[in-house]
Amino acid sequence: MEKVKLPIRRLVEFLLRFGDIDSRYVEKDRMLEGAKAHRSIQKANTIDCADYKSEVSLSAEIEYREIVYVIDGRADGIFMQDGIPVIDEIKTTATPLHLIGEDHNIKHWAQAECYAYLYASCNNFGKAAVQITYCSLDTGETKRFFKVFDADELKTFLYGLLEKYAIWAYHTSEWAKIRDASIKALSFPFPAFRKGQRNLAVYTYKAISGGKKLFAQAPTGTGKTISTLFPAVKALGEGKAAKIFYLTAKTITRQAAEEAFYRMRQHSLKFKTLTITAKDKICFCAETLCYPETCEYAKGHYDRINGALLDAITNCDDFNRAVVEEYAKKHRVCPFELSLDISLWADSIICDYNYVFDPRVYLRRFFAEGRDDYVFIVDEAHNLVDRAREMFSAELSKSRFLEIKKTFKGTGKPFKKALTAVNKCFLALKAACGELEHCISNDLPEELLTSLTKFAGLCDALLKENRELGTDNTFLSGYFEALNFLNIAELFNEMYVTFTEKRSGDVTIKLFCLDPSFLLGEAFKRGCSAILFSATLTPLGYFRDILSGGDTDTLVAIDTPFKSANLCVLFAGHISTRFKNRDQSISHVAELAGCFISCKKGNYIVYFPSYKYMHDVFVEFRAKYPEIHAFEQEASMTEDAREAFLDFFKEDPEQTMAAFCVLGGIFSEGIDLKGTRLIGAVIVGVGLPQLSVQQNIIKDYFMRKNGMGYEYAYMYPGMNKVLQAAGRVIRSESDRGAVLLIDERFTHAAYKNLFPSHWQHCKTIRDVKKLEAVLKEFWGLF
Ligand code: SF4
Repeated sequence: MEKVKLPIRRLVEFLLRFGDIDSRYVEKDRMLEGAKAHRSIQKANTIDCADYKSEVSLSAEIEYREIVYVIDGRADGIFMQDGIPVIDEIKTTATPLHLIGEDHNIKHWAQAECYAYLYASCNNFGKAAVQITYCSLDTGETKRFFKVFDADELKTFLYGLLEKYAIWAYHTSEWAKIRDASIKALSFPFPAFRKGQRNLAVYTYKAISGGKKLFAQAPTGTGKTISTLFPAVKALGEGKAAKIFYLTAKTITRQAAEEAFYRMRQHSLKFKTLTITAKDKICFCAETLCYPETCEYAKGHYDRINGALLDAITNCDDFNRAVVEEYAKKHRVCPFELSLDISLWADSIICDYNYVFDPRVYLRRFFAEGRDDYVFIVDEAHNLVDRAREMFSAELSKSRFLEIKKTFKGTGKPFKKALTAVNKCFLALKAACGELEHCISNDLPEELLTSLTKFAGLCDALLKENRELGTDNTFLSGYFEALNFLNIAELFNEMYVTFTEKRSGDVTIKLFCLDPSFLLGEAFKRGCSAILFSATLTPLGYFRDILSGGDTDTLVAIDTPFKSANLCVLFAGHISTRFKNRDQSISHVAELAGCFISCKKGNYIVYFPSYKYMHDVFVEFRAKYPEIHAFEQEASMTEDAREAFLDFFKEDPEQTMAAFCVLGGIFSEGIDLKGTRLIGAVIVGVGLPQLSVQQNIIKDYFMRKNGMGYEYAYMYPGMNKVLQAAGRVIRSESDRGAVLLIDERFTHAAYKNLFPSHWQHCKTIRDVKKLEAVLKEFWGLF
């Protein structure tokens, strides 16, 4: 008989929802404060009642209508009273307690009644009681409700829920049979493995089977997506994984995963996949205001959502954005919420990194209940370092609170007092910097946190009293930023600093995560295995260290599947592009780039470490080479402007074209200009991040940690940009192209050691004559 895993919380929340989406009334994310309050109530109960047991895991296998439900959950507390067990369900809340009655939330009772049934039936009690304890997040006060139930009454209630859930469980179990049979029969969806592909697939499969992480550097052309997804699907079919999360840093790379699944489906795979699109992108309304008065999809959403969901999952397997939108329109439900619901039925979820790692938005429906057999496939994993630092850091500025104070002058004394207290903390932190523009502390700004907690509590109360405040951007931004800051403060450890900066008349305080490895490691523990890959994970040891790998995790560098001879790599080590030497280098760089580009007609990109340097060389270049169609990247470009920029790169152009771009910018990675759309790249400098106070804090931290401060803060991130930019040139087996690296540091062993193995044939050039001769030979122009 099929078994269906069913956490009680999910069962109750899924079946008992109704009404509108109304983001003004949602209890905001005060989870960490909530967890603290939770623990303190449990502790107090343990003192008051000797047999009070906290966090009691409950589970049972219940057979009902030919399905075995593996039901589980965790009661907050259980104790005995008058000979019967009492299930204590603790709920922290921002709602003032006087507004909470016995029927405040039927789901709270439902969840506890299910726990009560499990406990009573396993321990042969004819009766059990439920106590709901509400605890105010702001005052710490509690309010309790108590009811006694017969065991039969509890049984009838739980079985009633299972009856309603039967159609969903049946779908789950039937689908698993169909899916697993198709996976068994699935063969690799290409005629043969390319060079390196089989290796990557085998390493992936082994990592998943062994519950480990794999760090794989796999060059362009390896077919990384299919080489990781195919073995992951196979592992899922063998019961080694429950769900595959394909995580990307950019929207564009999600397509590769969708295409890989499409291809496997063409080979008869039955697999449900979902792409999660960000809420503000998929929203049907001009403004994402999720209230029944402003959005027709929010109104009655929960009354229609289960019908929409059932229709979707019984009739479709591939939930890309367009399909999600189609079902949402058909049933008049919110497309974003629908996609989150579909995710529970999807075998694979394609989404941004933040749905797994970001403490603000990670998918609680999967990860709040502890570990499961999830596999995380992290695409372009080199991006995760900076993204993780951002996700685990939080910043507040003084001006935000002054703006709120000005806008909400008449909101009442306590609110004004709270804002004044926050402002005072900013001023104290500013004063602590003395004459300096910034200062760093290894401690949390405790007084600021206390003031922010008060401020957030008052915001909660005001929102309850005045629903219109929930639509005010100034108010909401300040409130959310404060909550986020408080939540990130809970993660603060020795890998953080508090960074105070005076910035154009303002003061900002940042809880700055310098080393994301520990927190990433905690997030990865939500799954059973992780595959992190990129064309540029150099050096692998650095990425393993900073992305939370351990000694038992596997590092692998896959060889390029392309002929090395198709890429001509040259470096000009006689020019220094260091900041202090830039002015003198302008004409030399323009001349070298001009010579490189003039050798063969085609499309080229010249990459620079800054817009200023780029523009200076551009002006010189255009004057010297008017016959070449040269143009520059702009500092901020819309989606349309980016596309128009890339449209200039035509196959076999009639005129030579040189695009001047910034290293590490939007045109230095993630663009795929195959064939003759791009035949050469000039990379000026070693890509070091701009010298800055924050980068230096990272440097000092790693210097203390492992003596590799400069490498971790500057050299490795810089070379990553260089390797990414160089990787734009050869995109397929038949591509031929050239890369010219300009900087004396490329001659240093420390940098050369970071060159990929397929650059072994690179040549040094010391003047334009030599450059011309080598290129002519490469292009066969003699
Ligand atoms: S459609 Fe947009 S505004 Fe409406 S509920 Fe969904 S996200 Fe909110």
